Amino acid sequence: MRFVFLGAPGAGKGTQAELVASRFHQPKISTGDILREAVRNKTALGLQAKACLDQGKLVPDAVVVGIVKEKLAEPMCAKGFLLDGFPRTIRQAEELAELLRSRGERLDRVLNVVVPRDVVIRRLTGRRSCLKCQAVFHVELNPPRRAGICDRCGGELVQRSDDKTETVEARLSVYEQQTAPLVDYYRQRDLLSELDGSGRIEEVHQRVLGLLSAKGLA
Ligand code: AMP
Repeated sequence: MRFVFLGAPGAGKGTQAELVASRFHQPKISTGDILREAVRNKTALGLQAKACLDQGKLVPDAVVVGIVKEKLAEPMCAKGFLLDGFPRTIRQAEELAELLRSRGERLDRVLNVVVPRDVVIRRLTGRRSCLKCQAVFHVELNPPRRAGICDRCGGELVQRSDDKTETVEARLSVYEQQTAPLVDYYRQRDLLSELDGSGRIEEVHQRVLGLLSAKGLA
């Protein structure tokens, strides 16, 4: 399985990629998670990326391509991987294609998770994640048993700095300008499958599974 999960911020691509990854025992590579961890740990990468993340801007292509190259070189990615949040620009997609070519591999499918804008805004601004274990909740759609406390580990739930309303608007316009062109890019290469990402997590997951099995990919 060599898949890309594409979609606007808040479309649920990370959640769906995670479910597919654990069901089929494939590694999931999320550039957003890697960058956030680097920011938390104040590594050189984190210090370089922090301002972009805080403002909802994209980290430079060369930086994220470097991250993905390193990850894909790990033995666990030899037989397959799911990419979540990468590529996000045409340049990144071209670099990915070149990297896979050099490994004698190609993408099997790009799943575009589509959700209306108002739903995306509601999902993002209500999202809360655990400071300790990074589990994700939503104040209305997937609330924790006790407000502000992680069900899984008891850690404190906080809002991602880039999920604040002002930054969400910036991220959505970055998506429209820089990432949305990838939909046509992959459609022209006959790799794109569109998927309705509205509704409950489990419903969307069933749609993902249906689509993969229709394509003979799972
Ligand atoms: P995400 O968790 O996928 O929404 O990513 C959070 C933030 O990380 C984005 O708003 C960007 O600042 C940065 N980021 C993640 N993936 C990429 C990428 N492929 N290219 C550039 N920046 C990225």
